[in-house]
Amino acid sequence: MAMILPGSCIGILGGGQLGRMLAQAAQTLGYRVHVYEPQADCPAGAVANREVNAPYTDTEALREFVRNCDVVTYEFENIPAEPLRQIESENLTQLYPHWRVLEVCQNRLREKTWLKNNGIPHARFCAVAVDGDVAAAISEVGLPCVVKTADFGYDGKGQLKVKDEAGVKEAVKQFAGQRAVVERFINFQCELSVVVARSSNGECRTFPVAENIHTNHILDFSIVPARVAVGICEQAEAIGQDIANKLDVVGLVAVELFLTTEGELLVNELAPRPHNSGHYTLDSCWVSQFEQHVRAVCGLPLGDPAQRSPAVMVNILGDSWFESDGKTRRLPHWPAVLKHAGAKLHLYGKAEARVGRKMGHFTVSADAVDTALAHAQDLKALL
Ligand code: AMP
Repeated sequence: MAMILPGSCIGILGGGQLGRMLAQAAQTLGYRVHVYEPQADCPAGAVANREVNAPYTDTEALREFVRNCDVVTYEFENIPAEPLRQIESENLTQLYPHWRVLEVCQNRLREKTWLKNNGIPHARFCAVAVDGDVAAAISEVGLPCVVKTADFGYDGKGQLKVKDEAGVKEAVKQFAGQRAVVERFINFQCELSVVVARSSNGECRTFPVAENIHTNHILDFSIVPARVAVGICEQAEAIGQDIANKLDVVGLVAVELFLTTEGELLVNELAPRPHNSGHYTLDSCWVSQFEQHVRAVCGLPLGDPAQRSPAVMVNILGDSWFESDGKTRRLPHWPAVLKHAGAKLHLYGKAEARVGRKMGHFTVSADAVDTALAHAQDLKALL
C-alpha cells in the first residue's frame, strides 16, 4: 500500500476511549481525525476534528463519512460487518483491518471455529444453534464448562459457568433461542495477552506480553512483563504473530490467552484493535499501541514496541465514584495518583460514572515489576 502521510484524514468507527487514545496518537503524528459514533458526546468525539453521530446501519451516512477519509479503521468490534463489506467492495476508502477480520472476531463462534480451522490452540468447545440443544452441547464438552453467547459478548457479559445439574438447567433457560458456544472450563495459572501490529507488507512487531488480573470479569491489573518464564512469553508472541499473519491483519490484533495449570497456552479471545491490556504501552514503551495502529493502517514504518521499564496498569471503573455501599456518591482521590512520581493518570472524559464503567486508567512504572505492582495496589486502595 502507498503511505498515507501526516496531514491526511483518518476515520475511526466507534467513539469510546480506545478511539479517543487512537485519535490523540494520530493527531500527535499530524493527522486529522474524524469519528463516527451512534451516541453524541462520545470520548473520542471530544478530541476529534469532526464527529458524526449516526447508526452503523445508516449506510448513506457511513458512505458520506468514509468518502471524506483517506483511511478508515475501527475501535470496537461490534459494528455490523455488512456495511463495512460494502464500503470495501465499493472502494470508497481504504479500510484496515479488512472487514473480514472484524467479521471473524465479532462473533465467538466464528472466532473459535477460525482458531480450530487454523490450528491455533484453544479450549475445546461445541457450538449451539439458535434453536439448538444447550444441554446436549454441555454433555459433549463435559462439566465444568462455560456457556457464552455467540454475539455481542465482552467483559464476561452473556456468559455462565456451569458446574452441576442445576447449572445445566439454568443455562438451558438463559440461553434459549440464542446462538451460543459451550466451552471447557479452563483451570489457569494466569491470563496473558499479547498485542501484535502487522503492516500490509507482512512485517509484524509484538508488544511485551501482559499478565492480566480480572475482577468480576473486567480487567483490573495488567502486569508487564508477565511473571512467567521467558519461553512462555515467546510462545505467546509466536501464537500472536501466527494469528496476525493468518488473519491478514493490517493494524493491531490483541490476543487473550490462558496459561493452564499444565503449562499450556490456549487462546481465549481476539480483538482487531487496541486493547485495554495494552494501555501500559502509552507510558512504558517506545511506541504506544495506539501510535503503532496508526502507523500500520497508514502504511508507515512500525515503531519499536520494546518496554523502557516494568509497568502495571490499573483500570479505574465508575465504582470509584461511589462509597463501598455502592450508592453514596464521592469523587476519587486523584491527588493520591498524581503525587506518585512513577504514576501516570489517564481519564476518558466520560460525564457519567456508573458501576463497572471504564472511566480511565493509571500506569505505575518502576525498576522492578513487583515494586510497580505494590505501588499500583496501594494507589488503587487510596483512590
Ligand atoms: P471473555 O468474555 O471470554 O473474555 O471472558 C471473560 C473472563 O472470564 C476471562 O478473562 C476469564 O477470566 C473467564 N473465562 C472465560 N472463559 C473461560 C473458560 N473457558 N475457562 C475459565 N475461565 C474463563
